[in-house]
This record gives sequence, structure tokens and C-alpha cells, in this order.
Amino acid sequence: MSFDTLGLAEPLVRALSVAGYTEPTSVQAEAVPAALQGADLMVSSRTGSGKTASFVLPALMRVLALRESEPRPAPMPRPDGGPRAPRGPRFVPQGPSVLVLAPTRELALQVAKAAGDYGRYVPGLRVATVVGGVPYGAQLRALSGPLDILIATPGRLLDHLGAGKLPLGRVGLLVLDEADRMLDMGFIEDIHAIAAALPQQRQTLMFSATFSGPAGRLAEELLREPRRIEVASHTETHADIEQRLHWADDLRHKNALLDHILTTREVDQALVFTSTQRDAEALALRLADMGHAVDALHGGMPQGRRNRVLDGLRSRRLRVLVATDVAARGIDVKTISHVINYGLPMKEEDYVHRIGRTGRAGRTGLAVTLAERRDFGMVQRIQRFTTQRIPAATISGLEPRTPEPAPRPKFGAKPGGFGGKPGPKRFGNGPKPGYGKPFARGGAAKPGR
Ligand code: AMP
Repeated sequence: MSFDTLGLAEPLVRALSVAGYTEPTSVQAEAVPAALQGADLMVSSRTGSGKTASFVLPALMRVLALRESEPRPAPMPRPDGGPRAPRGPRFVPQGPSVLVLAPTRELALQVAKAAGDYGRYVPGLRVATVVGGVPYGAQLRALSGPLDILIATPGRLLDHLGAGKLPLGRVGLLVLDEADRMLDMGFIEDIHAIAAALPQQRQTLMFSATFSGPAGRLAEELLREPRRIEVASHTETHADIEQRLHWADDLRHKNALLDHILTTREVDQALVFTSTQRDAEALALRLADMGHAVDALHGGMPQGRRNRVLDGLRSRRLRVLVATDVAARGIDVKTISHVINYGLPMKEEDYVHRIGRTGRAGRTGLAVTLAERRDFGMVQRIQRFTTQRIPAATISGLEPRTPEPAPRPKFGAKPGGFGGKPGPKRFGNGPKPGYGKPFARGGAAKPGR
């Protein structure tokens, strides 16, 4: 299948070919034609599946169509009844025709970049972002001019709306990206308030990892006869992402495992997750002292610094980025070869989002989880959520001294299986791939720790 068969206009097909894309991904093949027919959509597909283009392309098609159809002001009749004056300049309406809501600044900027990339041949395309952490003045300037696509985080958008600075009456397409995440972050009322300010007659596309619970209710409220597109659920096998689990005896052991992995040659770029902002700062400092090209990224940092850090990752000035969940959302860097869970996520869904930062755009990636015994409950919850066992691995010379934790057998329960499902082997007794192949060339394990 090629992009022309999706019904996209020539300037977009050309931009996609410049971006090096030869064929649509599954979610694009399903969502783009449906969106172009004007349907409301509920789409679940994993990060890295090309979902951004699946709403940015229909958004750009709408902008192109409006370019053709928007009225010019009627020529003014001359008071003396003489010949009419020539038509005035093209009428430029105020306010965006497309509004995209995204949970984080990083994701919003990512979407804006995609709109710029795929819309590079759309004449005079105007895209603006409204996100927290950026001075209001610059945003107001961007909003005061003519605009096609506005990409915003809900909180900041609502601020502008409350101040009467934002005409939304022309919005014909609303996109909610990572809606489940926005709900997790407490944006439900903001989303409702924003939707109430939009024209009733509009198309709405909702992207969410799940449509159960609050996300499903929001879809019922905002969408009309939506089509459901489910490309791959969170339970799919991440075929391009190999997952491994290392049990650590204590923090020192965990640090030794991390240091070993980061010094192997196979690491192109690594994204290391911590549970807290403080841990991110502290770990980045420790790794910098060891000589790594590393920085931290977390929600407590000013936006300018966060942008610089992300630029450093993209330009490869940084080889290691230590990040928290919220800050890392939306990072799309194809050269991230390793995701390392140094601190476990608070929620099992975040594990899926984290590991989706590697294995992007057809490359393979390795997701390594470093867990201490106290993390056992979360490891089990992640495995139940993904319905996959994360294979336990060891590094020669850095094997754990204490045996792997195992679930306490329930009274009367048959031994075997995890998550209530029958399985061939008890959790923890599975095969241990170790690091023989991918990491062996990275040097011998460090003795002592
Ligand atoms: P997303 O799921 O939107 O975050 O996209 C994941 C990655 O896939 C991004 O790096 C995109 O640039 C890339 N991508 C999107 N569409 C395609 C495509 N049709 N072919 C190849 N790569 C793509």
C-alpha cells in the first residue's frame, strides 16, 4: 500500500516521501481514510506505531481544503455606482481550524514538529503551540495572527481561553492525543471546558491506550457515532523490543548493574528512568562524574532547559538521558537503543510507555528493568498488565546473591503460572538469557561492587 491510496493530496505525499516514508503504518492505513471521510474515531495504538501522522495528515488535508474554500470578502460596490473595486486581499480568518490537545509539553512540541514536517509543502501553513512553562507574551503573539493548527496542553489553553484571548469558533477538528494520560493527569474538567468552547459541528479524533473507565466515558461524551480502530493493544508483543529483568540485591548492586550496561558498546543512546525528580538529578550527577555524556530531564526543570536537553539527545551530544515518566512522554529519538528502568514506574501502563521509547520506526531496542526485592509487586503487576513475562537475566560476575523473589503460593492454589493463568514454569524459574550475546563484547563484568 502506498500513501496516494489513502486519499492524501500531492503536497502531503511529497512531504512523506521527503521524510523517507514509503508506506503507511497499520494505524495510518486504517485511521487516515476513516478520518478523511469525516468520521469521529476512537483509536488505540501503541507509541511508536506512527499514530501522530495518522491525525496530523487528516488535519493538514482539512487545512488544504479550507485554503480552497474560504471566502474572500465580497468586492465593495462603489458609492458612485461605477465599476466595482478589485477584490480585496484573501480574507484571513482568525483562530485555528484544528485543535490538538496533548498531555505534556514534549508531546505537544513533537506533534508541532510532525505538522511542520508533513506540512512543509502546504502553502503558508501556520502552526502554534500553547504549553505551560513558556512565557505568555510569545504565545499571545503567535495566537494573535492567523492560524491553522493549534497544539496545546489543556491547562495553559484554558488560561488563554479564560482571558478571552483565543477564538476557537472556527475549530472543525479536535484531536485528543494520549487522552488516557490527560485524564490521569487530572485534565478532565479542562478538557470539558475547552470542548464546550468549540463548535458543536466538528469532527473529533480521540487517541488513547485504553478506552475503559474514564477514557471511555469521555469518548461517549465527546464523540458522535465513533468508529473504533484498534491496531494493537497494550498486551501485544513488542516484537522490536527485547525485555529483560535483573534482580538487584540492593542499591549498590543496582548501580553496578547500571554502570555495566551503560559501558557496553551496544548502547547507542540510553534513556534511564527514575521514579522521582530528585533521583533523576542525583543519578545524572553520579553518571556525569563517571564520565558519561549525560543529563537529566524532569518536569521540575524550566522549559528552556528541557528543550536544550532534548536537543542534546537528538544531536547526540548526550548518550544517556535520565528522566522521569512525565518528562519523557513524547520523546521520539530513533537512536535510543536502550531503555533502562532504574526506578520502577508508579503505574504499570507507564512501563509500556517507557519501553516504547526504544524500538522506534522499525529499529530494535532493549528494555532492561533493574528491580530490587521490594519492587516485586510492581514487576508482577506489569507482567499481568502486559500479559508477558519479562525474562530474568544475569550478568556474569554481577549475579544476585539472594534468590529471585517468587510469589507466595495461595492456599489451595496449584503451583505454577503467574497472574492467575496457568503457565509452563513458575515465575522466576524461566530461562535466563544473560548478557552473553549482546553485552559480552562490552568488557568483562567488574569484580566486586
Ligand atoms: P509515533 O507513533 O507517531 O510517535 O511515530 C513513531 C515514529 O515512526 C516516528 O519517528 C515517526 O517519524 C515514524 N513514522 C511515522 N510514520 C511512518 C511511516 N509511515 N513509515 C516509517 N516511519 C514512520
